[in-house]
Formats: sequence, structure tokens, C-alpha cells
Amino acid sequence: MTTEDVIAIRVPTPFAVGDVIVYLVKGDALTLIDAGPNTKEAARALQEQLAAVNVKLSDIEQVVLTHHHADHAGLLDVFSDEIEVIGHAFNEPYISQNQAFMDWQKRFFQKLLPELGVPFDTGKAEKLIRSAYAFSCTRSLTKSIREGMGIDGLEGWSVLEMPGHAESHIVLFHEKSGRMLGGDLLLANSSSNPILEAPKAGDVRSKP
Ligand SMILES: [Zn+2]
Repeated sequence: MTTEDVIAIRVPTPFAVGDVIVYLVKGDALTLIDAGPNTKEAARALQEQLAAVNVKLSDIEQVVLTHHHADHAGLLDVFSDEIEVIGHAFNEPYISQNQAFMDWQKRFFQKLLPELGVPFDTGKAEKLIRSAYAFSCTRSLTKSIREGMGIDGLEGWSVLEMPGHAESHIVLFHEKSGRMLGGDLLLANSSSNPILEAPKAGDVRSKP
């Protein structure tokens, strides 16, 4: 794996944070680390920058998600059902927009927000929860990964779990070269904000 085998691609987002950087990794499998948000602008930017290195969207064999946020996972929707979608199992209810999970989130925030002194308006909460998915996708993982695992087609890279910014957050570490693909673990111009999430049903809330 050389430096040329990892190509940074800058994709615009509709969010204040600005662009998101996804990575094309030329391992045994042509792999994209994160996809970008589900917007026409992001799709165009991704396709143009892939074309600049002679890669078509349909050449991508697998997408590895660092975490489930819409600006990282949303653009999964432009890929065919043939590709592998790989990430921590905690991505699943978010990227599939599982209705039972959506309802559970609403009930969770309905209980928690008043405890934190935040007025809760059911109509607004529904809208707010929905807005977090406006640029997301409806896909499913085809493989889940955990701490210490490797990924087929990405020799030398291993998975480290880094929950905090998102419960689903992982980074990929290439020990030999010392490189890490960090998702939103570090952000250039702001803190890597911990985001309050509803726990898995029946579980206790984690404290990011
Ligand atoms: Zn994020």
C-alpha cells in the first residue's frame, strides 16, 4: 500500500461544517471509505473526482462507513445493490431508517429532553428527528465489523472502535505506514462534537 493508493476526495455537504472528505483506497478491492451526503452536488463531485483517477462509480466494490451520519453514509443510495456495505453494526438502524427505531428515538427524546430542561414539542421533535435523515440513505450493511478486525480487500488496515462522536464510529489504522482514516474523530475547525443518541432499545444511554 503506497501513498498513491489512498486518494482523498472532497465532497460538499449542505451542513455548516463544510466539505466531507471520503477516501478511495486501491486495495485488492476498490474501496471507498465513506460516501458523502445524499445530494446531487455531492454525487457530481464524487463522480468527477473518481473520473479524474479513471474510476467509475460502478467500479467501486465496497464502501466502508466510519459512522452513520448522513454526510458520510447518505450517498450509499447511488451505488448498486451489488456492492458490499461495511460498518459497525450500530450503523444499521440509522442507515436503513428503521421505523421502529425512529419511533423509539422519539419516545427516548420525549422523556430525556424535559429532564434536561429542554421543552419538548412532539410535532417539532418528529421534524427534528426526520431532518437528521434528510440527506441520508435507505441501505443495509452487508458486513459488520468490530474492534481489531480486518476487512477483506483492504490488507493491512485494521478496525479500531472510537465511539463518542457517534456510537457507530470506527477508524481504520494501517500500522505499517502509520496512517489512519479517522472519519469525524478529528475535525479541522471545530471540536468533534459528541452527539447524544438514543440507546439500543432496552439498553442504557451511553455518555459520549
Ligand atoms: Zn459525523
